[in-house]
Amino acid sequence: MIKTDVLIVGGGPAGSSCARRLKQENISSIVLDKAKFPRFKPCAGWVTPQVLRWVGEEVDNYPHGLTEFTQLRCFT
Ligand SMILES: Cc1cc2nc3c(=O)[nH]c(=O)nc-3n(C[C@H](O)[C@H](O)[C@H](O)COP(=O)(O)OP(=O)(O)OC[C@H]3O[C@@H](n4cnc5c(N)ncnc54)[C@H](O)[C@@H]3O)c2cc1C
Repeated sequence: MIKTDVLIVGGGPAGSSCARRLKQENISSIVLDKAKFPRFKPCAGWVTPQVLRWVGEEVDNYPHGLTEFTQLRCFT
């Protein structure tokens, strides 16, 4: 039998972030997802600097290249 402290249902950004955070606290987890990975994940490729910092990624080391937007205006 597999034992775990936490069972996470859904391995999208929320579930995988949760698993990562739990691992940092030495809490075991298993991520259960109904999809076979890599799954189809629509994405515009948008990531904020705060997220990069959070995952410990340096902008200069990111292998796929980034376009930096210094401001964003929303029109309604
Ligand atoms: C077209 C498009 C472009 C986007 N572009 C960006 C972007 O550039 N940058 C950005 O930050 N965000 C973007 N987003 C938003 C981003 O995709 C969502 O905010 C993010 O996926 C939400 O993560 P989540 O883990 O909450 O949910 P999801 O990504 O939906 O993950 C949920 C997971 O749970 C699984 N699941 C569901 N039900 C069950 C079940 N009953 N049992 C087991 N597993 C289950 C699913 O298979 C899925 O893998 C975009 C969204 C869309 C639609």
